[in-house]
Amino acid sequence: MKLILLGAPGAGKGTVAKLLTKIDGSVQISTGDILRGAVAAGTELGKQAQAAMNAGDLVSDDLIMGIMEERLQEDDCKSGYLLDGFPRTIPQAEALKTLLEKMGEKLDAAVEIDVPRDVILDRLTTRRTCESCGAIYNTKSNPTKVEGICDKCGGAAVQREDETEEAISNRLNVYNDQTAPLVGFYKNEGLLLSVDATSSDAVIDAIQAKIGQ
Ligand code: AMP
Repeated sequence: MKLILLGAPGAGKGTVAKLLTKIDGSVQISTGDILRGAVAAGTELGKQAQAAMNAGDLVSDDLIMGIMEERLQEDDCKSGYLLDGFPRTIPQAEALKTLLEKMGEKLDAAVEIDVPRDVILDRLTTRRTCESCGAIYNTKSNPTKVEGICDKCGGAAVQREDETEEAISNRLNVYNDQTAPLVGFYKNEGLLLSVDATSSDAVIDAIQAKIGQ
């Protein structure tokens, strides 16, 4: 399947994407993960993105489109893709539309995962991410067996720099200002599926009912 996952930080886009990947082999493409990888590797891309990311601001549309134009043409995308955290602005959505038309591809849906703000704040401040393998934990609902150590690879499970209360609050404002307008954009395109759910399984059921897979 070819989906856009829309939703505020902490809405569960990554979790839903990982579950969907197991269903039909579609690949999860997270621009946030790609950027964090570039920062960790100290590449030119990482250097350009780091300051905006730490502050919870968006990286420039040009930088993101440069990444995604290449990524969407890689072979593993032929079996479908789940876009997690992209597009995030109207110019990105328009550029994606043009790119997909050029490639002769159509999206199945843009899924809006709508979660109340208090649930999101709680989820993000308690989230821990493994610095080495990217595994996600939660100090309340899914803690590591040993505090601060990833169960899967033994790496450090830490709070992301952009998950301090200040950065989270900024990320939510950025989402409301710059990304929430995409809901209207995809409604006009006839692609919007809004799911009002805090459980990932309910989101997946709604997606499967809509696209029949
Ligand atoms: P995420 O893990 O999706 O929350 O992304 C982490 C950070 O990476 C965001 O707060 C932005 O700074 C940056 N980022 C990720 N995806 C995008 C995008 N599509 N456009 C602009 N910035 C992005």
